[in-house]
Amino acid sequence: MRSFALPLGAAFALALGIVAVSAQGPGMRGTRVEPGQPCPAGTTEVRPGSCQAPDQPAPSILDYRPRSTLVTPQHPVPRAKFPAIDVHGHPGSLTSADAINRVVAEMDKLNLAMMIVAENVSGDRLTQTLAALAASPHKDRFRVMGGVDFRNVGPGWAERAVAQLEADVKAGIVGVGEIPKQFGLNTRKPDGSRLKVDDPALDPLWAAFARLDIPVFIHTAEPQEFFQPLDYTNERWLELSLFANRRNNQPGQVSFEELITERNNVFRKHPKTRFIAAHFGWHANDLARAAKMLDDFPNVSIEAGAVLYDLGRQPRTARAFFVKYQDRIMFGKDSFQPNEYPYYWRVFETEDEYFDYYRDYHAFWKLYGMGLPDDVLRKVYAENARKTLRLGPKS
Ligand SMILES: [Zn+2]
Repeated sequence: MRSFALPLGAAFALALGIVAVSAQGPGMRGTRVEPGQPCPAGTTEVRPGSCQAPDQPAPSILDYRPRSTLVTPQHPVPRAKFPAIDVHGHPGSLTSADAINRVVAEMDKLNLAMMIVAENVSGDRLTQTLAALAASPHKDRFRVMGGVDFRNVGPGWAERAVAQLEADVKAGIVGVGEIPKQFGLNTRKPDGSRLKVDDPALDPLWAAFARLDIPVFIHTAEPQEFFQPLDYTNERWLELSLFANRRNNQPGQVSFEELITERNNVFRKHPKTRFIAAHFGWHANDLARAAKMLDDFPNVSIEAGAVLYDLGRQPRTARAFFVKYQDRIMFGKDSFQPNEYPYYWRVFETEDEYFDYYRDYHAFWKLYGMGLPDDVLRKVYAENARKTLRLGPKS
């Protein structure tokens, strides 16, 4: 894809009618553009209407790593200020005492009081996990979500799924999820058609969640740029170039808006079912839209995993959002990389400015702290999870 992208930039410039007019005199490498037109590929605007190419080979975005000379107070936060609950835990298999001990040792360093295991598993694998945890001295540090298998949705599927859910609830789950992104994106029905998020065949299952008072932790869609062309205007160009399977931009593929519409149809049709929209419902880049989702659907709360790069680039708007919706937001991390949690603590707790994020391919920009008040932090870190997942009071 990279080799196609450079000619695309040139084609883009041509399509916009950009014409290289003249050099600007001896020794200058200028190209003039009409007011409002972008500079041609490989050049940058040096004066109004005048574009120039550097006389050194330009580095690729992989190799350009400027050192910031900004000097400001730095407050790294290795441990959360208050004991936190990670509602979006993907710790891998927890079926052995060793594995459990390893994860708990990392949790202790981070001040993570509890992890909700959200591996979308059901049946045997679920009961093995629950049994291993029950036998562990660390059983109070974990709760487990069940799972749903969305393959082969057709006659009889809902009855089987509801029976499995009832069995899993008896076994001790506190929720179901993470319902994976494949649901809606590319899970197929037996006839080969895409299983839509709002397929009516699933209604008995959504209704059962309400009857059993079990929340659904659901990941629908992906960052909206994953659905856009892979060109040099795509702010997730690097990630999409690294991971071909994240490109949802081919003709015939479902769009971001279609998925959000289907998801919202389910939220609306099942007002008694409690949903936790993973990753801020992929609206962290548009918090007015996230607010509208929460306003429209009182049965929905949100989780903050893997969207830190959007919160941390708009600290003032994000802070206001967290204060307003302080009862509806839960901390979650997603991928279990212990050295990444402190970036969350720092964005939530401090007012630090212009500091690094942990993965260049998610975000080429810097982060800023939101400086959340303590009472908001306590809710987001743990109290909302305790209420939503019925975890009971702090032990
Ligand atoms: Zn997810």
